[in-house]
Amino acid sequence: MAAPATPDSGAVERIVIENAAIATVDAQDTEYASGHIVVAGNRIESIGAGKAPEGLANVVRRVDATGHLVTPGLINTHHHFYQWITRGLATDHNLFNWLVALYPTWARIDEQMTYAAAQGSLGMMARGGVTTAMDHHYVFPKGSGDLSGSIIRAASEMGVRFTLARGSMDRSEKDGGLPPDFAVETLEGALAATEETVKKHHDASFDAMTQVAVAPCSPFSVSTELMKQGAELARRLGVRLHTHGSETVEEEKFCHELFGMGPTDYFESTGWLGDDVWMAHCVHMNDSDIAAFARTGTGVAHCPSSNARLAAGIARVPDMLKAGVPVGLGVDGTASNESGELHTELRNALLINRLGAHKEAALNARQALRLGTYGGAQVLGRATQIGSLEAGKLADLVLWKIDGIGHASIADPVTAIVFGAAAPVTLSLVNGRPVVENGRLLHADEDAIARSTRDEAQRLARIAAES
Ligand SMILES: [Zn+2]
Repeated sequence: MAAPATPDSGAVERIVIENAAIATVDAQDTEYASGHIVVAGNRIESIGAGKAPEGLANVVRRVDATGHLVTPGLINTHHHFYQWITRGLATDHNLFNWLVALYPTWARIDEQMTYAAAQGSLGMMARGGVTTAMDHHYVFPKGSGDLSGSIIRAASEMGVRFTLARGSMDRSEKDGGLPPDFAVETLEGALAATEETVKKHHDASFDAMTQVAVAPCSPFSVSTELMKQGAELARRLGVRLHTHGSETVEEEKFCHELFGMGPTDYFESTGWLGDDVWMAHCVHMNDSDIAAFARTGTGVAHCPSSNARLAAGIARVPDMLKAGVPVGLGVDGTASNESGELHTELRNALLINRLGAHKEAALNARQALRLGTYGGAQVLGRATQIGSLEAGKLADLVLWKIDGIGHASIADPVTAIVFGAAAPVTLSLVNGRPVVENGRLLHADEDAIARSTRDEAQRLARIAAES
């Protein structure tokens, strides 16, 4: 989608940022040692070296960003917000054992718990520089209330851009799947609720703050019919498709036993390869799987911390990038990555991939930053709108403080924020509006969220123990 022209009205308010190191993450990886960005309304109006142009009208704020690196806002492409209230459990399990241990608890969530967990997940990400969040929510217990609505409300209140991947599960133990029977929906129920969520909440416009994707959970928790009809539904409604794929060797075995083929062939046979699809993990991919993703434009949400915690393996990110596969980063649910911060994924993507076949040449700091910004925009289908700092794009950006104790002695600004500790966020803008200032959320009470998430975690544990 082409960028509509920035309204050239004298009434539009401007924010001017000057004296910053800037990493634009544009196609040429343009950087400025000291540059400026002018934000007009919700767009980037101009960006370049040196001071901002003089004589700009309606400048409501001028930011001296000395000692800061400005980057595009971070984009998270895979998460399960509800897991915020089941962190620290089943800490020494592989994926299938971990799922079996947690499904019974997850199946007891309600709207109040989901809302609190969404606030916790969103708050932690926003204060760490995430400007576009996503939630793959696939647990909808009967009578649990309007879970999708509560998650979208939390994102909208926090002020971050958001994609809800409306998940579903309909293959339970009685059908050879992994979740217990009481934790799943019917095929018809899942499709109808997903369509309703898209129609109610999806905004297709250039500057959309809320989008919805169709997202059956995984091959081992979803029927083949739901995969196929889910893909048809997404294409009829013009929205994107998301699921988990090729996460573990156990999943590969499951696919061969049940479907007589590996996960990528199974996805292809159900309509799940395409440039409107992105898939979480993709750890166990051979050369022909990677070629199929590249040929079809299927995207990947790389989740290195979760893959390490569940001992799933190392995704072949350098090979995917070389083949032309779009790759973004995901924290994954916080029951398998208690940190819940995207900086951890920038750093772990770089470090963990160096433990793979390509060693120190696997990824560098700038490639890691690209995965967490432009790569995320690509897999969410929003690369013309967000993911890099360019005139005409939406004003989603972060000012990282790199002149403090943690970073001042690191030689290069991008190296500082990727290799170094999580840098403090002095200011983040989403859609031209401040969301974090001096490390604190502007539109939510962090202490209240800490209390409510602890209370809801305890309430969920009590209900799960009683049932
Ligand atoms: Zn996941």
